[in-house]
Amino acid sequence: MAKVLVIPGDGVGPEVIREAVETLKLLKKTHNLDIEFEEALAGGCAYDATGSPLPDETIERAHEADAVLLGAVGGPRWESLTYDVRPERALLGLRKELELYANIRPAMVFGPLLEASAIRPEVLRGADIIVVRELVGGIYFGTPKGVEMGSDGVRRGVNTMAYSEPEVERIARIAFKLAEKRRKLVHSVDKANVLEVMELWRLTVSRIAEEFGHVTLRHMYVDNCAMQLIRDPRQFDVIVTGNMFGDILSDEAAMITGSIGMLPSASLGDGTGLYEPVHGSAPDIAGKDAANPIAAILSAAMMLRYGLEREDAAATIETAVERVLDSGARTADIARRKEKVIGAREMGDRIRAAMSDR
Ligand code: NAD
Repeated sequence: MAKVLVIPGDGVGPEVIREAVETLKLLKKTHNLDIEFEEALAGGCAYDATGSPLPDETIERAHEADAVLLGAVGGPRWESLTYDVRPERALLGLRKELELYANIRPAMVFGPLLEASAIRPEVLRGADIIVVRELVGGIYFGTPKGVEMGSDGVRRGVNTMAYSEPEVERIARIAFKLAEKRRKLVHSVDKANVLEVMELWRLTVSRIAEEFGHVTLRHMYVDNCAMQLIRDPRQFDVIVTGNMFGDILSDEAAMITGSIGMLPSASLGDGTGLYEPVHGSAPDIAGKDAANPIAAILSAAMMLRYGLEREDAAATIETAVERVLDSGARTADIARRKEKVIGAREMGDRIRAAMSDR
């Protein structure tokens, strides 16, 4: 039996995670999904209860679990705390503890929401991209870093972009493995024309590509990729890139889909993975049953696909989401003017009804 550690967190976290968990519970019945749930604290609520945003007990249970499903952490209540106990530290701590070096964000366009995007429907229709971002290396972690005062009295800031071959090899393998199950195309995005570290990135990805002969590899410079994502998003299948480029490109790719309330993510390493919506705790709408639970529900689908090898159950969720959107169900974030708005609970109920009603 697979063990799923559920961390609802703060703000809308518990509201959207409830819908994801209810959806998984239904799959236990309809798809013989063999999972059990445990719950743990992280974020502001953990700080309130224990004095730490990421208690040791949560870390231990995360290590023991087969997958971790997290809502969101943070909120204005904890903003005056020092950085070491801020709720957001829990995310960094979990990534570090579980050695999650790959962040995976799909940017998928649901037909009924084509109009919600800032990009023209005819450019967007059918776009289905996964951005694989290296998460624990590159310029955000490289040394030397800092701000120093020179002997000439001028301050100088430094960060270092560094990647070793093994760091690139492992993230490249994740991208190629994902592409194998999809349209078999990987774009490796770099800046090899200017940066030596990216030249090594390019050579290393090309070498790993030889292990995956049936997957096509294309290299693209990051500035061109930023442009191509808007010009013709359908040309992409899997994009793999370093930490900083991935940070920027995954947000850009996400925006083609419309609302932040629709975006799931997975962070993977060689062991337990972490699955969570991209959005934060949305304090402005917390407690009002106004959040869109689809990002959390689709995160549960990613968990089934990548963590528990249950593609069938993942696809059932995604098909149900598409059908419910097709039927016109809208939470406030994806509704156009005059469209009827439903809450998180009802959206969850409708998705589950669509799953049963096959
Ligand atoms: P946010 O994502 O919480 O909210 C941004 C905007 O999107 C808000 O208007 C919010 O109402 C809306 N929104 C977010 N999720 C939604 C949903 N499911 N349905 C409908 N609308 C939704 O970002 P923020 O306001 O910058 O941050 C709020 C808090 O969340 C901060 O404390 C921040 O540090 C934290 N945060 C946590 C995570 C995380 O846990 N992964 C990520 C980002 C921000």
